[in-house]
Amino acid sequence: LVRLEQVTKRFGDVTVLDHLDFSVDAGKHVTLIGPSGSGKTTILRLLMTLTKPDEGTITVDGERLFPAPEKQVREVRKKIGMVFQQFNLFPNMTVLKNITEAPVTVLGMSKDAAEERARELLELVGLSEHLDKHPGQLSGGQQQRVAIARALAMRPQVLLLDEVTSALDPELVAGVLDVLRDIARSTDITMLCVTHEMNFARDISDQVLMFDSGRIIEAGPPEKIFSEPEHDRTREFLSAVL
Ligand code: ATP
Repeated sequence: LVRLEQVTKRFGDVTVLDHLDFSVDAGKHVTLIGPSGSGKTTILRLLMTLTKPDEGTITVDGERLFPAPEKQVREVRKKIGMVFQQFNLFPNMTVLKNITEAPVTVLGMSKDAAEERARELLELVGLSEHLDKHPGQLSGGQQQRVAIARALAMRPQVLLLDEVTSALDPELVAGVLDVLRDIARSTDITMLCVTHEMNFARDISDQVLMFDSGRIIEAGPPEKIFSEPEHDRTREFLSAVL
């Protein structure tokens, strides 16, 4: 469903991604792990078209995302949703409005249909009773669950999760991860996550990709990567974070 071929990204004279190739099949859950600065977040940002590669091609669902004409980029981009470390909710809108805004303005959904869908999603993330509140009245964990519902409201085929629990107080992490586990189990959405939560990665991933200096140095199912890593760098990284 998602394919990167020979993708290179440089910032100045620093090569952040170096002729990277990988693909993710529809419905699969892939976790990117590796040391800080190894390029994981940059991959998600490329898929969100928040930044562009210097070389290579990116396709989503058989359609080119890069390089591609602007109009096509806008269309292909609708297949992808993202949740950020900082929830980035609209502070002046209610929870319900945060979720219905883009489906109405971008997808042209009717207000009623968007609200019905938003209520379903709020139930999924356990926040049905908070729909009239503003983000400032919610805990960080609740705000992040609203951000997850907001991303899903656009019915993306691919959900990108960028360290979604890193900004949360420790006691709020489990609730957010439980919601994501539930979504991984109960929907057919394709997931790409960057996370430092290794137990979560082990639970939900079909495949784990270990990054180092802009390259994938090891890839495999979580049982393999976490229990019998082949690469010294993977072993070092895991012993530092586990
Ligand atoms: P982390 O876990 O710390 O987020 P990461 O593996 O996600 O790390 P990236 O955020 O993808 O790493 O960053 C890879 C490298 O690119 C880093 O060295 C970073 O400093 C650099 N970088 C990222 N964005 C920019 C930018 N806009 N301008 C310059 N350098 C950047």
